[in-house]
Amino acid sequence: MKYIGAHVSASGGVENAPLNAHEIGATAFALFTKNQRQWFSPPLSEQSVEKFKQACNNFGFSAAQILPHDSYLINLGSPDTEGLQKSQKSFLEEMSRCEILGLDRLNFHPGSHLNQISENDCLKQIAESINWTLQQTKNVTAVIENTAGQGTNVGYCFEHLRTIIDMIDDKNRVGVCIDTAHAFASGYNLIGEEAFIGTFKQFDEIIGFKYLKGMHLNDSKKDLSTHVDRHESLGSGFIGKELFRIIMHDSRFDNIPLILETPDETLWKEEIAWLKQA
Ligand SMILES: [Zn+2]
Ligand SMILES: [Zn+2]
Repeated sequence: MKYIGAHVSASGGVENAPLNAHEIGATAFALFTKNQRQWFSPPLSEQSVEKFKQACNNFGFSAAQILPHDSYLINLGSPDTEGLQKSQKSFLEEMSRCEILGLDRLNFHPGSHLNQISENDCLKQIAESINWTLQQTKNVTAVIENTAGQGTNVGYCFEHLRTIIDMIDDKNRVGVCIDTAHAFASGYNLIGEEAFIGTFKQFDEIIGFKYLKGMHLNDSKKDLSTHVDRHESLGSGFIGKELFRIIMHDSRFDNIPLILETPDETLWKEEIAWLKQA
């Protein structure tokens, strides 16, 4: 079964996200469970949690169809002690919010070395931060997203994600989310069937499909290996629509949230409808 959706608004409360997803014909969705531009938020009210669960139930969204995303401020590999502690506390809060909402995975960008530590030390720090968080929570899987390798972001190659996974104590609670625009911008060719097969063969050998807990379906405004993170609507970027049609016909992408983060929200309904029949 393919679960297809978009990163919808939770403005006015998390309980609004399932309705927003339902209205665009989605069978999956992503959301921020708090203001993504703030480090910390007031706890979710009991009423909000109840309404969220009710709405998910009403519209048929199970935990496997929902991929919450954490705040962009968090850097779990921060070389700075204060920044690291703040990031870890904030990430723990995000994980706890997911747990309370009955969600089973949290998607996040691994982190940045800020030119102050090596990539390897940064990856090590990220793994330590994840382990620290997993020890204090339960049921929620930490889902690491690949990056475009913009700035000093790590996580731009499958080997980086593998290195982190190798250092995680509880392998049952770590996974990855592959963002197609990030993969392409970081140097993985995804144009045409042959390129797709090659890239996901590498993915399977280095990481393994069993760790794939979600996908971000985005075309890219920037060309292959540019290391620039700019999403584009499906078919309007350098990747083109073919990739997304192929993914829709590949059972290795079944039963996980497939999420659009394309820039034109008014197209989401159309994009979802297209993916469903692709
Ligand atoms: Zn992301
Ligand atoms: Zn993404």
